[in-house]
Amino acid sequence: MSHPYTDGLDAGVVRYQCCDGCGAWQPLERHACRTCGSLQLHWREASGLATVYAVTEISRAPTDAFRALAPYTLVLATLDEGPRVMGHADPGVAIGDRVRAGFMRFGEGTLLRFRRE
Ligand SMILES: [Zn+2]
Repeated sequence: MSHPYTDGLDAGVVRYQCCDGCGAWQPLERHACRTCGSLQLHWREASGLATVYAVTEISRAPTDAFRALAPYTLVLATLDEGPRVMGHADPGVAIGDRVRAGFMRFGEGTLLRFRRE
């Protein structure tokens, strides 16, 4: 299924939603701005630079497809623009590390994968 976020990953960019009314970034895909209620939201491209907020080591993959990758590292990373996104990351990254978005073809799509700056 086509979606601005996953299409962005395919194109090598991290996208996030932003309000046309007040400029506030949106924490998740939303239908109305969290700040002013405007319905005029659009997608922007982030720089890809982020700071690691949380780290999880995955040893048991949730699906057969991901079993090939396990063990792997997932992070929640705060984009410099503000939104927080989940992605794969280099093994051993720690909370507070500066990372840059990378993109890894996987199956039919593309995974966001952060590497240390
Ligand atoms: Zn707004």
